[in-house]
Amino acid sequence: MKKNISALILTLTSFVFILCSCSHSNAQNEKPENPYYSKTDTTVLKLDNKEWKKVLSPELYEVARKGATETAFTGEYNVHDAKGAYSCAACGNALFLSDAKFASTCGWPSFYEPIYSNSVKYKEDTSYGMVRTEVVCGRCDAHLGHIFNDGPKPTGKRFCMNSISLDFDPH
Ligand code: FE
Repeated sequence: MKKNISALILTLTSFVFILCSCSHSNAQNEKPENPYYSKTDTTVLKLDNKEWKKVLSPELYEVARKGATETAFTGEYNVHDAKGAYSCAACGNALFLSDAKFASTCGWPSFYEPIYSNSVKYKEDTSYGMVRTEVVCGRCDAHLGHIFNDGPKPTGKRFCMNSISLDFDPH
């Protein structure tokens, strides 16, 4: 009987330990609370980086607000064929449909057109001794990636995006 109680206590202790471990890892993976994120509110956001730093994960902040580029072939959506819609990971703005995504060898998710012409905005980028066109979110100005003229028909454009700047909702 004593042995059974000891075994029961051991099992319960293990169970509690597993539960604690799970909730701990979930807490680590949770996104920070972001009051500016919305799939329906299209109000243009003009916030400074100090405010964005409070509401974005450090990894997303580096790309979206500091213009960093994620390592090629590492992003969640580089090889990702599911049907659905991609939105801005910083603010929820609708950006691209999976129908406009194409298999690119560049190492980043690539699209030939945005959902709406005002889904994105364009800026000249002269960093690293190159002249490129930066693509930013039309609602919150988050850095998404760059656009190139070597995409497929019908537009001939390649919107080369950082996966981390995108959220995906399956249809
Ligand atoms: Fe945005």
